[in-house]
Amino acid sequence: MNAVLELENARKVYPGSPPVVSVAGISLTVHSGELVAVLGPSGSGKTTLLNLAAGLDRPTSGSVRIAGQPVENLSDRRLSGLRAHRLGVVFQQFFLLEHLTAVDNVATGLLYRGVPGKRRRQEAEAALDRVGLRHRVRHRARLLSGGERQRVAIARALIGRPAVVLADEPTGNLDTASGAAILALLQELNADGTTIVIITHDHTVAAAARRRIELRDGHLVKDTAS
Ligand code: ADP
Ligand code: MG
Repeated sequence: MNAVLELENARKVYPGSPPVVSVAGISLTVHSGELVAVLGPSGSGKTTLLNLAAGLDRPTSGSVRIAGQPVENLSDRRLSGLRAHRLGVVFQQFFLLEHLTAVDNVATGLLYRGVPGKRRRQEAEAALDRVGLRHRVRHRARLLSGGERQRVAIARALIGRPAVVLADEPTGNLDTASGAAILALLQELNADGTTIVIITHDHTVAAAARRRIELRDGHLVKDTAS
């Protein structure tokens, strides 16, 4: 099994007086095909860890490898390229472009890969189909329900087959039923071979994952894989 994410003693310290040690030296490896839940109370460093794993932030020390590439020595431009080709990210707040249709939102996931417009739209429609939104392709994002919006965001993350999809509290803004449906979708995508890391403080979400990692105060305190 090949490693899609490798953190080795990764640390993130935010400057200030006193400085905040947000991630205090975490080592973990995620392999292709895994479904991993990262759990921990608010402030335990989950989002910081995701930002490191997604190459949205660089570690203060230690190393982060995404699809085998260490991010430390990459220029910002190469790191953006790596992100565009290898990662899909889903956020609690969806971050859709409200005035655009579902298909155009999803197609933006391929914008930085140099894929021609027509093919972007074809792939976007296929991705929307995969998340059960074939009937919403031409709807504008602002007219969709919360659960549908998160499906669009998941389709955008999936397009182009990234090595791993990282989701930060993907059910956090949803009612119980929509949240359960999104969780079922993520499980189904994993069963089809997508590697997924879900950050959550919801124990029902965590229970759905084969592997659970727990954080406290920036430390990894439990990893059911080890
Ligand atoms: P979680 O997602 O588990 O709630 P975060 O990773 O957001 O935790 O935050 C972990 C710690 O790092 C918290 O104490 C938070 O206040 C701090 N932190 C997060 N981002 C920043 C930042 N940009 N600047 C300073 N401190 C931050
Ligand atoms: Mg968070």
